[in-house]
Amino acid sequence: MNEMQRYISQLNEAQQAPVLQKDGPMIVIAGAGSGKTRVLTVRIANLMSQGVDAFNILALTFTNKAAREMKKRIADIVGNNEAKNLWMGTFHSVFAKILRSEADKLGYPSNFTIYDTQDSVRLIGSIIKEMQLDKDIYKPKQILGRISSYKNSLITVKAYFNNPELQEADAMSKKPRMGEIYQQYVERCFKSGAMDFDDLLLKTNELLNRFPDVLAKYQDRFRYILVDEYQDTNHSQYLIVRALSDRFQNICVVGDDAQSIYAFRGANINNILNFQKDYENVRMYRLEQNYRSSKNIVEAANNVIDKNKTKLDKIVWTSNDDGPKIKVHRSLTDGEEGRFVAATIFEQKMQNQMLNGQFAILYRTNAQSRAMEDALRKRDIPYRIYGGLSFYQRKEIKDVLAYLRLVINPKDEEALVRVINYPARGIGDTTVEKLTVAANHYKRSIFEVMEHIDKIDLKLNSGTKTKIQDFVTMIKSFQVINENQDAFFLTEHVTKKTGLVQELKKDGTPEGIAKIENIEELLNGIKDFTEGQKEIDGARGALAEFLEDVALATDLDKDTGDDDRVALMTIHLAKGLEFPHVFIVGLEEDLFPSAMSLNTRSELEEERRLFYVALTRAEHQAYLTYAQSRYRWGKLVDSEPSRFIEEINDQYLEYLNPVDSGYRYKPVMDIDVFGDIDKSKLRLAKPTAGTPPKYLTQDQPSPTANIRRLKPVSSNSGNSNAVDANLTVGNIVMHERFGKGQIVNIEGVGADKKAEIRFDVGGLKKLLLRFAKLEVI
Ligand code: ATP
Ligand code: MG
Repeated sequence: MNEMQRYISQLNEAQQAPVLQKDGPMIVIAGAGSGKTRVLTVRIANLMSQGVDAFNILALTFTNKAAREMKKRIADIVGNNEAKNLWMGTFHSVFAKILRSEADKLGYPSNFTIYDTQDSVRLIGSIIKEMQLDKDIYKPKQILGRISSYKNSLITVKAYFNNPELQEADAMSKKPRMGEIYQQYVERCFKSGAMDFDDLLLKTNELLNRFPDVLAKYQDRFRYILVDEYQDTNHSQYLIVRALSDRFQNICVVGDDAQSIYAFRGANINNILNFQKDYENVRMYRLEQNYRSSKNIVEAANNVIDKNKTKLDKIVWTSNDDGPKIKVHRSLTDGEEGRFVAATIFEQKMQNQMLNGQFAILYRTNAQSRAMEDALRKRDIPYRIYGGLSFYQRKEIKDVLAYLRLVINPKDEEALVRVINYPARGIGDTTVEKLTVAANHYKRSIFEVMEHIDKIDLKLNSGTKTKIQDFVTMIKSFQVINENQDAFFLTEHVTKKTGLVQELKKDGTPEGIAKIENIEELLNGIKDFTEGQKEIDGARGALAEFLEDVALATDLDKDTGDDDRVALMTIHLAKGLEFPHVFIVGLEEDLFPSAMSLNTRSELEEERRLFYVALTRAEHQAYLTYAQSRYRWGKLVDSEPSRFIEEINDQYLEYLNPVDSGYRYKPVMDIDVFGDIDKSKLRLAKPTAGTPPKYLTQDQPSPTANIRRLKPVSSNSGNSNAVDANLTVGNIVMHERFGKGQIVNIEGVGADKKAEIRFDVGGLKKLLLRFAKLEVI
């Protein structure tokens, strides 16, 4: 048996089928952990072993890291030399490359800049300012979101102005000048020789539509196309795949409708549902066996996703062990939640010799990482945060990069505006405004105006003119260096010559020093890159390529995996990954599911899919944690456990909370009527000395049994004073956190029954009875 056959024989029969079908359109629909990504990998290796040239294969993945890993596995099978020529990466990175080589056709320079979200928001901000519009109505981030959704639906500026409905919709939402902003934004990007992320897809579509010869060239080149995570492709991506695969129809997509979680960014689940209509003789494969997770996790996840109405029917089973039950933990605050997570990781590492890298902490929103970080730091547990403000988004790094971007593309307006007067060199805002106006007037870039400053009358004094000329000369001198030296040499020169490092040294604060260290870290990264480049083709490290890597790098991509850290990330980022132990934190109503998703069934279903994705990342042990109150938007708010916990059948869960740990929140002073409690006014009573917290085992009744929403608690459920339905107005009750109070009103029925209670200390509060844990006294 050769190597290839050995790999195929390790797959089950259902997995082998899509690997062995060489030609034609096919779709693999299967639940989490069933080997979709593995099938793609082996399929590519098998194509190559059957003589398909690596140059003719295109594989599109969700992250560049996934692409690299796939390539490595393929290299293990077919050898490094062969695997090297495969085209693999995210849509954005693959098509950025193609756009560079075809840029002239679209009127772009091949060294076009890729604007990141910050650049785009900043540009929109200045357009709004120039148009003298109200920033509170025209919010730059929101406007960018709108523009992004137009682009992803292939609605160009022209199409926008031809579409009265769209214009009306924008006018209705008090943004009648949306179209003008869109137009300005597009023109300004073009003039700056810049594309934003959505342009990388939009322009690719334009390229393939407008130039049949270009389309034919890439159709001929990519004879075999494979797409992972197909359920999350948007319309623009869908059209690209469609166009490229049209000639040979050798298209293999894999996905799971239950893991479609990017609708908010335009992902279109119909792409997966309609695949069979788009091609002829589509073969549909299903995989049913999950290899990733223990049985408890697989079955609990099935339980959850069953609640969704819109879904394809799928079976997922596993022959893995039952594994431990999913552990549920309740804490009083988000701080305590963090401490629980850190303590558990610490314990597990001690008891079971586990590595940090075997744990992941997943949350719904980036802001939740802070409490986790604090707790991990206190226990000296190394961690890495993915997403959020990435290294390359930091101000000092973006400043250096802006200079480098100008070296490559001096038209890059966002880069120019960023550093034209940083460090301060006497080119003030008024001057920049004049330059911008002139640039718009002449339909040129600001840099070009600056180059000809002595010939244009902008009413600038001669001192300012000289400063502008000095700046131009400096950038040009960098360009000369770039032609003769490698990227590392140039960057080091730039950081000195521009005075950037000097500026931070002057600052002298710990933050300033940290920033210098970050710049050093950037230099290390560039060194690495240039050395790597030299190894590959003996050439000097090309700056342009480095910048492209940076522009498209997601945090996941930078994970070299060589140091051992706990992974912290949003669930959105965790797609496709797996970890032995997974904590899903902040499982509270209004947080997860998000408050913004409760309006429609489809939004709620997307949240549920997100929970499904989270749970199915776990191989061995999943923890679900929630806090009864947490700081949100600067306020301490009360929360109820997420409905997703109770959607899991009890038999898969184990409740961890101490039966009687002695922990109680004692409100000491006033609590605001609506529950906005000032944390400084609360103190945590010490647990009773000498009584270690008791933990429930699975045979004991769960102390949180009365959070089960659909199963009203009966008064003999182990908590003899627990009441649910028998409360009446006037009852004096005791609440575990708010203390004593009197019921003044009761409303709603069944699971929605609420009591309005005036607490002696907490004031008036409305509580859902199924969560409130009241005792009548
Ligand atoms: P997701 O939907 O989360 O992206 P997936 O369907 O892509 O999951 P993979 O990541 O390919 O699943 O596989 C899940 C795990 O199961 C991986 O660790 C993979 O190596 C393993 N696996 C897949 N197929 C087999 C098999 N036939 N035998 C043993 N292990 C397998
Ligand atoms: Mg996968």
